[in-house]
Amino acid sequence: MALTQTQYEGLMRVYEERRDSARHTLEENRRTIRETIPGYRDIENRIADLAVKCSLSVLDGDDRTASKISDEIKELSSEQKKLLSESGFEEDFLEEKYVCRDCSDTGYLPSGEKCHCLKRAITRFMYRQSNIEEVLEKENFDTLRYDIYTDTEREKIQPIIDECRHFADDFGSVYRNILLYGNVGTGKTFLTNCIAKAVLDKGYSVIYFTSMRLFDTLSRVQFSYDYEGFRDVQDDIFSCDLLIIDDLGTENVNSFVASRLFDIINERDLRKKSTVISTNLNFGELDARYTDRSFSRLFGSYTVLHPDVEDIRVRKRRSGL
Ligand SMILES: [Zn+2]
Repeated sequence: MALTQTQYEGLMRVYEERRDSARHTLEENRRTIRETIPGYRDIENRIADLAVKCSLSVLDGDDRTASKISDEIKELSSEQKKLLSESGFEEDFLEEKYVCRDCSDTGYLPSGEKCHCLKRAITRFMYRQSNIEEVLEKENFDTLRYDIYTDTEREKIQPIIDECRHFADDFGSVYRNILLYGNVGTGKTFLTNCIAKAVLDKGYSVIYFTSMRLFDTLSRVQFSYDYEGFRDVQDDIFSCDLLIIDDLGTENVNSFVASRLFDIINERDLRKKSTVISTNLNFGELDARYTDRSFSRLFGSYTVLHPDVEDIRVRKRRSGL
């Protein structure tokens, strides 16, 4: 899971705040009880005294006395519970109330494994990180509609959709990349969103950028001399499980963009990290646009998909869909 150290620490701070809040609530509840139930405080003090005596007896090796005291403590504890329920308080009123009981808000189970709540938090974080949380609720394999295509188009689009599904299904076990190219409105972004949601739901980290925002972000951090910031962003882009670059070719191309694009594709290929790119440009145009490098060689490891259909958005508007 590609969380940077800073991001991880951010998440852990949330857990720390939860534990603080549980402790705080417990203190408040204790105070309430002491103020409401007469005699409760006395019992607490007696238990505390007995606990000290019990420990001393254990240290002295006087097990008989220790066990006698321990019985006394148990009796007092049940007396406390009785007082609680008689005064109308819930039995667990004086227990720490964690958001997640399984890990007591530490994020980790006693076995050292990540708790389900932390795994979910990381996935949610990645959704937000990938900048498309809300869009993905609407655009995914479950909401994909075939009725917007003509029969001929459906024949063309079906194998492309299948490829995208296989890509998502096999994610994590097979290293693959996809280059989706086609005209505006042919559903490329929709398909990249379907892939993003399916891969995120499998627990992998996905970062989504429109091409314009990707290079804008990279140039902003690089030229603001924020070295740490640049390292963070670059590290995420190089190492996230899936990187999606949507609408390649819409950015203002210059030598910075061309060389960064080359680095990203090359570095991810070396690390065997999958990338999905959508673009309106074909290979010839890509080569011409990013002249310095041989993109046809670079894209050698990509499965090229070409949805060759009419502009869906125009048709949707026409038919009022
Ligand atoms: Zn948990």
